[in-house]
Amino acid sequence: MADRKKGLLMVFTGNGKGKTTAALGLTFRALGHGEKVCFIQFIKGSWKYGELEAAKRFDDLLDFHVMGRGFTWKSDDLEKDIAVARQGWEFAGKIIAENRYDLIVLDELTYLATYKMIDEQEIVDVLTHRNPSQHIVVTGRGAGDRLIQAADLVTEMKEIKHPYKQGIKAQKGIEF
Ligand code: ATP
Ligand code: MG
Repeated sequence: MADRKKGLLMVFTGNGKGKTTAALGLTFRALGHGEKVCFIQFIKGSWKYGELEAAKRFDDLLDFHVMGRGFTWKSDDLEKDIAVARQGWEFAGKIIAENRYDLIVLDELTYLATYKMIDEQEIVDVLTHRNPSQHIVVTGRGAGDRLIQAADLVTEMKEIKHPYKQGIKAQKGIEF
């Protein structure tokens, strides 16, 4: 039984900064072991210049995907947003089913459930029926109860201070 791999379902949620950063940290750690990582971004632009450039150095192990045009709750075309969200979610489902990666990051996935674009139970079903050796990370504010129930690890980033609130602008290497 020694060292048998158990894939973990991990959720980084809450309003404080650090959710995507934590997912990138785990990505970096996995890459160091020569593990294959797939990072899927559900909101366009949530990956910043810094990590996009860094990712190029790991292109043999790290695949990175942006889903469609991303979606936005500011959009006036909800039907189209739902279709894009569904396409993105189906793509993620295919990646999970193919079982080609050690770690799959679903960055900002929680918003698909929050905005009722995809049923939370459907998300939980796909994640829990994955190959049991795959690690999955889900990030995003407002993770739902069912996702939290299903997860092995849940960390809530709690905002105590954020530089924006003190009028400090975004800093290179920290925000982008
Ligand atoms: P990061 O990508 O820096 O780890 P995050 O993934 O935890 O942040 P998101 O909810 O995805 O946070 O929001 C992304 C952007 O919003 C980042 O630029 C981040 O600095 C900013 N942000 C996160 N938390 C706060 C906050 N509490 N107040 C203001 N801005 C925030
Ligand atoms: Mg984020």
